[in-house]
Amino acid sequence: MIATWFPTATDLAATGAAQERLHELAATATRNRFGRSVFVRAVVEVSNFCRENCHYCGMRRDNRSLARFRARHDELAELLVNHRPPSITDVNIQSGEDPVAAREVVLPLVRTLRQETDLGVSVCLGTLDARLTRELQEAGATCYIIKFELADPQLYDELEAPGTLAERTAHIRSLVATGWHVSSGFIAGLPGQTVESALQNFRLAADLPLSGCSVSPFVPGDETPLSAARPAALDPTLNCMAALRLMRPDWTIPAVSALNLAGPDGGYRRGLATGANLVTINLTPTQCVTTTCSTGATVSS
Ligand code: SF4
Repeated sequence: MIATWFPTATDLAATGAAQERLHELAATATRNRFGRSVFVRAVVEVSNFCRENCHYCGMRRDNRSLARFRARHDELAELLVNHRPPSITDVNIQSGEDPVAAREVVLPLVRTLRQETDLGVSVCLGTLDARLTRELQEAGATCYIIKFELADPQLYDELEAPGTLAERTAHIRSLVATGWHVSSGFIAGLPGQTVESALQNFRLAADLPLSGCSVSPFVPGDETPLSAARPAALDPTLNCMAALRLMRPDWTIPAVSALNLAGPDGGYRRGLATGANLVTINLTPTQCVTTTCSTGATVSS
């Protein structure tokens, strides 16, 4: 399916009656495609070590004040095999870009889930090498979640997002070429983002061979270069979600937990009414106390 509708700057800034119309159109497109059902995905965080240094993320490697953790395979396997809520149909195993955790914790966990459950298995682990990625696929993971973060190449470099934008998008394409379903995403309301760079996010998303895409509001993380920056407002973020749904009615679009940080009075609930068809439940063991970072991932605090 190709996108036949693209948002304009006016759509992304809509308020009042125009915004209500935009959101209602998105909700209708979601209902027409998926009915009233939403997918329920469990998220487990395996590690908050990260070798990258994104300015917008509390997990960045230069954040020396963050208490780092790697979860244990046995603990997560017990939780997911024997104690998961019955509504869950798939699990997303997520971490900072930490190849050690990917090999020592995630790989055996994917094997266990494949042997012991009929859950779909997604991974969100950053840019790993081809061999480890193939081993994860052979173990039974089918969906790779990897955000392109932002589509403005200059801002991408300025914010030290992972590698370069060209490498990131090439990696997304190579994952799809090797049989993965890939879901991506971008951040709304980043400092330095212009109207044109916001629209670029949609052009890039439409151009990539994706199965889904998320929109995460920028939330300034402590101990990051952007800690004093203004957080993204909820309404423009919801406009992006609605526009994404209208652009691609067939995509899986999650309501990310960070919506509640952008709009504490029901941001997540409003996201669900604005084109999302996936909710997530964080099942990370409680000893890893979590707070949401700017990308919608969660980090230990
Ligand atoms: S956004 Fe991802 S890659 Fe960047 S620092 Fe955070 S966890 Fe690491």
